[in-house]
Amino acid sequence: MKRNISADEACSILFNQPVTIRSENVKLADAYGRVLFEDVKARIPYPPFDRSPYDGYAFRGEDTATATQDNQAVLQIVEEIPAGTYPQHEITTGYAAKILTGGPIPKGANATIKYEITKFTDTEVHIFNPVPPNTDIVYAGTDIMPEAILAQKGTTIIAPIITTLANQGIDNVNVFAKPVINIISTGSELCEVGETLRPAAIYNSNVHTLSAYLTGVGAQPVNGGCVQDDPEAIAEKIAKALDMSDMVITTGGASVGDYDWALKSAEILGADVLFWKVEMRPGGAVVAAVKDNKLYLGLSGNPAAAILGLFRLAMPYIKKLCGRAECFYKQIDVALLNPMKKQNPKTRLLRGRLEIIDSKAYFVESGGQRSEDIASFNDCDLLGEISMGSPPLPAGAIIKAYRL
Ligand code: AMP
Ligand code: MG
Repeated sequence: MKRNISADEACSILFNQPVTIRSENVKLADAYGRVLFEDVKARIPYPPFDRSPYDGYAFRGEDTATATQDNQAVLQIVEEIPAGTYPQHEITTGYAAKILTGGPIPKGANATIKYEITKFTDTEVHIFNPVPPNTDIVYAGTDIMPEAILAQKGTTIIAPIITTLANQGIDNVNVFAKPVINIISTGSELCEVGETLRPAAIYNSNVHTLSAYLTGVGAQPVNGGCVQDDPEAIAEKIAKALDMSDMVITTGGASVGDYDWALKSAEILGADVLFWKVEMRPGGAVVAAVKDNKLYLGLSGNPAAAILGLFRLAMPYIKKLCGRAECFYKQIDVALLNPMKKQNPKTRLLRGRLEIIDSKAYFVESGGQRSEDIASFNDCDLLGEISMGSPPLPAGAIIKAYRL
C-alpha cells in the first residue's frame, strides 16, 4: 500500500485502473447526456437538396444579364413551389417559378430573387437588375456531406449533437451503459434528509452531493444508505454494494481518528489497497482499493473535502468508466487576485472563479476554503491548485487551475 502520495500520482493510479465497458441502444428522446459508443456519420446531405433561401422566384440568371430599371427582364411564371412540393416543370429561357423558402429549386433554374425586389402578377415577374447564375441558392450538402463524422465515440450527447442526430433522421443510437456507482455514507452522527434531526446529529448531505456530481458526468449513482462507525458493518456493506455495482464510494472515516474505519474496512474486505492518504488539502484523506476488479474509494466525510477528493483524484477515472473520451479537466494558468498568505506543505486546492480583468485571467476565491465549507461551491467554476512546498504567494502570482 502506498501512503502519503502526491495528488498527481493518486489521480493516475486511479485513472489507470481497468474499466469494464457495456453499451446499450437508446432512443433519440433518451439520448441527451449519454456518451456515444460509436462515431455518428452523416447518412444524407444537409441541406438535403438545392433549395430557396427566400420567398421569391427561381429562374435562369442568364435571362437577367441585361436587366435594368428601364429594360426589365420579364419572365412567365410556370408554377408555384411551396416547401414540401416537388417541382413539375423545367425552367427554360424566359420562364420562372414562384418559390417559397425551403422549396426545391426546379431543374434548369440557377438563381433566385426575393419577391420584395421584383414586381409581379400571378403570371409574370419583372426583374430590374442582373442576377448572375448561382445567386441565392442553398446547395445540397453545403453544411453536411454524407459520410462526414458528425460526432465521435466518447462524446457526451449535448444539444448540438441531438440536433445533428435528428437532422440525419437517426432515431436511436448506441451509447455507453451508465456505470453504477454505489455511495455509502459512514458515520454514527448521520441522519437522512427528511428525518427529524437528533441532538448532535447532522444531515447526510454527501450522498446527495456526490450523486449530483456523478449524474452530471454520466454515471448512475445509487444511494447505498448510512452505516455506523463500525468496521465490520462498513466492510459488509461495501462488499454487498460491490456485487451490485461498478464502483463503490464511501464518505467518512478516511483519516486517522479513533472512529475512522475506511482503511480497516478495506482490509477486512480483503481488497487490494492501492493507497491511503494524499498530500493534498482539503480532500487528502482518501483510501483507494480494488476488489474483484472494481474500485472502492473512501472519501473524507467533510463535505468540501469529499467533493474536492472526488474532483481532483477520481473524476478522470469516473469519466473513463462512463466511456468519455475527454476525462481530464482543462487546465489554465491564472494570476491570484489576492495573495495566498499561508505556507503550502501539501498541494492546496482552492475553490474559486475565473475573472478577466484588463484582458488578464485571474483566480478569485469564491468563499470559505475549509474542509467543511460548502457555500464556496455555489459560485465556483475554477479549482485553483498551489503546488506542494510552495511558499506564501503574492497577489499576481501565477497558479494552475482546472476548469470545472
Ligand atoms: P469524518 O471524515 O468521518 O471524520 O467526518 C468529517 C466531518 O464530516 C464530520 O464533521 C462529519 O460529521 C461530517 N460528515 C461525515 N459524513 C457526512 C455526510 N454524509 N454528510 C455530511 N457531513 C458528513
Ligand atoms: Mg466520522
